[in-house]
Amino acid sequence: MEISPSLKQLLRVPQNTAIFSHRNPDGDAIGSSLAMRHYLEQYGHTVHVLFPSEYPEEFEALPGAEEILIWDIHTEECKQVLAQKNLFIFLDFNALNRIDRLGEFTVNFPGTRLMIDHHLYPDPIADYVISEPEASSTCELVFRFITDMGDNLKINPTVGKCIYTGIVTDTGSFRHATNTHIFRIAAELVARGVDDTGIQDMIFNSQKEKGLRLLGHCLSQRMEFFPEYRTALIWLSKKDYEMFEIQRGDTEGIVNYLLSVKSVRLAAFIHNQPTVVKLSLRSKGNLDVQEICKKHFNGGGHKNASGAYSHDSLKATIDKFKAILPEYKEILNK
Ligand code: 5GP
Ligand code: MN
Repeated sequence: MEISPSLKQLLRVPQNTAIFSHRNPDGDAIGSSLAMRHYLEQYGHTVHVLFPSEYPEEFEALPGAEEILIWDIHTEECKQVLAQKNLFIFLDFNALNRIDRLGEFTVNFPGTRLMIDHHLYPDPIADYVISEPEASSTCELVFRFITDMGDNLKINPTVGKCIYTGIVTDTGSFRHATNTHIFRIAAELVARGVDDTGIQDMIFNSQKEKGLRLLGHCLSQRMEFFPEYRTALIWLSKKDYEMFEIQRGDTEGIVNYLLSVKSVRLAAFIHNQPTVVKLSLRSKGNLDVQEICKKHFNGGGHKNASGAYSHDSLKATIDKFKAILPEYKEILNK
């Protein structure tokens, strides 16, 4: 990738840096943020990582996770820290509405803003932009960014562990959004001592019993199929949230079970979180769920994995989702 000489110069000198990633941070958001932090600290940067909301428990073991500032919890500290910064780095998002209130601090920011991201259709929110929608993950881009900075040797086991985490989570363990880069990167990281199976264990074998029971509930009580549209849906109500004491990250990955059915091409997970209704759409093949999320629900993401939020009721959101299916009947059955 092209890295402008002025950016290279800036990063090689100690800066006061804030790294931001998106609300409901996933493994790629956390992995890329912490990887970047541990990389830039090697150049003497003072780095804080800030997220709008909490991250799932399984990522607590990543190096530096405990120091991440969460706007919802550490609001005052976030404000104080941001007032001292001269470099903002945006990772794994490309529109300011993805970082909630933190976005307000970036608009009139007098310092420099760098964005590294792999979502479609970036907004012009940074001075330096690295946007590659073909990339598997932001972590892949961070690896290539550091390498193209001429700093491959700075990818030590700490940086490597964070990068590997995001590649594994965003590709569902190398099952989708793969490309030739990531297999090379994975091999290189493992050769440097990154513990592949340890990380996979941390991500996929760290469920609580209630998570498995929730999945059972979704599959047995909350699943609907629409064979005419090769579509399947799982929904969860506020009551379900209470009954299963659902917390951050507990519903991650449930939507993917729908895609495991051969005939299904469009999978939806619509759930009533405590304050908003969240949609997660996934597709197989050519169906563009990014377009569906953007057009009908003001959301976005990737061609085969997108999300959105709705302030309508759960029922209204589900009805709206069902009502748009005829528009996509032809492409769903192609
Ligand atoms: P998930 O369904 O797992 O929350 O998100 C799937 C993908 O869509 C992720 O890459 C995520 O960043 C993106 N995404 C989720 N929610 C939103 C949203 O409200 N707006 C936009 N633009 N992207 C979203
Ligand atoms: Mn990502």
